[in-house]
Amino acid sequence: MGTPLNLLHNNLHEVSVEGRRLLFHIPSSSLFQLDQISAAVIDLLRQTPDLSLDRLNTELAGRFDRDELGETLAELVAMEVVTDGRAVTPEIGVTHVENFPLNTLVLNVNTGCNLSCTYCYKEDLDTPSAGRKMDFYTARDSIEMLLRESPDEPRYNLVFFGGEPLSNLALIKQVVAYAEQRFEQAGKPVDFTMTTNATLLNEDTIEFLAEHRFGLSISMDGPQAIHDKNRITVGGQGTYAVVARKAQMLLSRYRSRPVGARVTLTRGITDVERIWDHLFNELGFAEVGFAPVTSGDIADFNLTEAEIAEVFANMKRLGQRYLEAALEHRNIGFSNMHQLITDIHEGSKKALPCGAGVAMLAVDHSGGLNLCHRFTGSDMELFGSVEQGIDHQRLSGFLDQRLDRTNTGCASCRIRNLCSGGCYHESYARYEDPTMPTYHYCDLMRDWVDFGIDVYARIRAQNPDFIDTYITPRKGH
Ligand code: SF4
Ligand code: SF4
Repeated sequence: MGTPLNLLHNNLHEVSVEGRRLLFHIPSSSLFQLDQISAAVIDLLRQTPDLSLDRLNTELAGRFDRDELGETLAELVAMEVVTDGRAVTPEIGVTHVENFPLNTLVLNVNTGCNLSCTYCYKEDLDTPSAGRKMDFYTARDSIEMLLRESPDEPRYNLVFFGGEPLSNLALIKQVVAYAEQRFEQAGKPVDFTMTTNATLLNEDTIEFLAEHRFGLSISMDGPQAIHDKNRITVGGQGTYAVVARKAQMLLSRYRSRPVGARVTLTRGITDVERIWDHLFNELGFAEVGFAPVTSGDIADFNLTEAEIAEVFANMKRLGQRYLEAALEHRNIGFSNMHQLITDIHEGSKKALPCGAGVAMLAVDHSGGLNLCHRFTGSDMELFGSVEQGIDHQRLSGFLDQRLDRTNTGCASCRIRNLCSGGCYHESYARYEDPTMPTYHYCDLMRDWVDFGIDVYARIRAQNPDFIDTYITPRKGH
């Protein structure tokens, strides 16, 4: 083997946690502890590029057994952390999406909402009276389209979205009845999920949702002073009191599935810890997830650059509390952190940032197919309709552009297989081009992932049972 050895810097990110050297293997987003031999090989190749195998053996022979050295080198070459000159495997095996394993449909059951949140991004949002409701035939055609396009999925999910989905409860009930019978006929399980502002919940509705095991998340922004800043009625009144009351009613009796809170962080709102404390400890939500708005449709509500940095710093502070609790075997329901830890644990290798357009599509009120719920009503092209089915060519064409990382900053980014260029809608709102990566906070994202690696490594070392209890069961979720 005469070809010189080199490190493949593009695949290797080294971190140190409590004095231990860890290798974050970029192609698979996986974390490995470096043993002494691997560390020595990497150090030597870092100092001396283009090293011959003989020289490597001579340099390290005094410290390590020759056979073990050979095995370690073979492993590093197989992981493509070290190259001996042979061609590197293309990282994204798929460059063209042809089959769409569609298993999730988001149904926009009413474009209208009974609230008038100042920052609301929904492109097709209407006041309650002007809301355009989906009819049953469109919903039924959506389900038929799903089963026609993608009959072999093991499980399906219908997501009710709006506007405010509960403002079209009559349709939701019809759809659930139809879907349960139709999926049973197809021999496949179906789940229902919904994001709601909670204001229209009552005991009967909660009973219905529980009976059909809905996965629920409530849009709520935190304690009253924060929530009422933006989440207001059409008449301009804060909605905290009613939302908190309804949420408590729900949380006190809903046992079907854990209920999460979804928090929108907009200009002036960065206090992640205080918001989490209120929603998790005081109200009792099982999970709290934060969505920082950096490129909404209404520019005045976007977090400023300084605020985005503050949000990440505050997320790290809450992440520190997540770690402390995890070491005591408690999960504090900080969804963003939990998801990151899960991705690292599972070695997520995302060729695309999310399931939009591949496993998931959103149906607008009149049956048009959109990439995801955030695109319904936008000027973005449709990708077919529930009647005609998916426009495969157009959808593949769109996804192929994101799969090709040539000449993008993502090609050499160390979190490329976790971030994958970021949310299409953020790019669409910011650059009017959903195929472009979301470049505006890459450094903060990389820092956040490094933080996640650190937290994960500490949990793995000090309380691995936490991972078995709280993370492994989520696999395949
Ligand atoms: S968008 Fe930025 S952070 Fe994300 S993969 Fe691309 S370069 Fe990396
Ligand atoms: S495109 Fe953005 S908003 Fe839509 S599903 Fe993907 S990450 Fe979420």
